[in-house]
Amino acid sequence: MTLQLVEPVAPCDFVSWSHDYVPYALTMVSLLTLEQAHEQVLKRARPLPAETVPIAAAAGRVSTEDVVARVDLPPFASSAMDGFAVRAADLPGTLRIAGESAAGRPFEAQLEPGSAAAISTGAVVPEGADAVVPIENVVLIDNAVEIVQAVEPGAHVRPRGGDVAAGEVVIPAGATLNPAALAAAAASGVAELPCARRPRVAVLATGSELVDPGGTLGPGQIYETNSLMLSASLESAGAEVLSQPPVADDETALREALERGLAADVLVTSGGVSVGEHDLVRAAERELGVEEVFWRVSIKPGKPVSFGVRGGTLVFGLPGNPVSALVGCELFVKPALRALQGLADPLPRFEPGRLAVGLRRNEERDEFVRARARLDGDALVLDPVTGQESHMIVRSAAADALVHIPRGNGELAAGSTVRWLRLASR
Ligand code: AMP
Ligand code: MG
Repeated sequence: MTLQLVEPVAPCDFVSWSHDYVPYALTMVSLLTLEQAHEQVLKRARPLPAETVPIAAAAGRVSTEDVVARVDLPPFASSAMDGFAVRAADLPGTLRIAGESAAGRPFEAQLEPGSAAAISTGAVVPEGADAVVPIENVVLIDNAVEIVQAVEPGAHVRPRGGDVAAGEVVIPAGATLNPAALAAAAASGVAELPCARRPRVAVLATGSELVDPGGTLGPGQIYETNSLMLSASLESAGAEVLSQPPVADDETALREALERGLAADVLVTSGGVSVGEHDLVRAAERELGVEEVFWRVSIKPGKPVSFGVRGGTLVFGLPGNPVSALVGCELFVKPALRALQGLADPLPRFEPGRLAVGLRRNEERDEFVRARARLDGDALVLDPVTGQESHMIVRSAAADALVHIPRGNGELAAGSTVRWLRLASR
């Protein structure tokens, strides 16, 4: 089976424009490729200044320096089992129980030849002992233990510094502070972490037809979806989001709202970057001193995406169709946020998978197809969802994968290996 992915062209792309820009269909200007656009964005997304963050507040942040262990880990030779600390040379044999080493309450004396100390998991292995015999392998007789098997020196002992030694790197610069990284830092005696400042991102939806969710729809109006979607997505990528109410397609109101948004590290707008008469965002930004770096990339959906800078602020103009905004956010805005936070590898993280069905390729544009990912034996298989048009956000909500279909001729057959990006999931 082969699916044809269709995205109708809005009539305004062809019939109505009164600004400086002439529709692509008529100019045949060659568009930037995805790779070229990424290069342009990453060149300008320099890491934000670092700040010191208490470890309890650092989840999800990015380290800006190598973090080194303050202590050896474990800080002392400790037992891996509940049992008896022994001298391996004494075994097999019957050993007098000289005392106990519990977690947090070490056996203070030297372990003498011919004796054993009861020991719990994580407790200090006493001086003189060099192995632990698990409780299951001993027979208790009054105040002694009988152990019938020999043990290797070091058995069930976690050596001091076996995980990491003081001074060694625990978390490299540019790593995400995931739960295990936080635990690693805490275990190594680190209480504060150097993190990139969280990028402040202004999100602004534009369009005179937009009504906040919950309001009453008048003639020609629709509910505003993009600020909610973009805010949730960008917060999950580390942003501190400053949401503004949607703004109408009105030059004065738009300029005011954009000027407010330009105070942030990143301004993300949706809508108004296409070629219609009411697509005012780029012109308004130009008047406010935004230097446009690119407009339109050979992707589908999301072609009319724009990117510019003003001072230290990165400015993304995403198209208004919700699926186009989602794709533009994944492909451009989130990588920029990762770069601003100093992540070592900011580009979208594609994974390999197989197409469940054949797909016809687009000759000019790389397509990003919404799909469901499932395991079939060892293979990760991708089923495109029904309804691939760029206004179909409900259909897209059923997808957990964005599949990259590179531009080209002919079709990608069912079973072809493709790369895909995981959409937000739990
Ligand atoms: P535009 O990019 O402004 O030409 O908008 C393209 C399409 O997306 C139009 O159908 C708009 O009504 C719709 N749209 C624009 N912004 C939003 C938004 N924030 N939420 C939902 N739909 C939108
Ligand atoms: Mg619009």
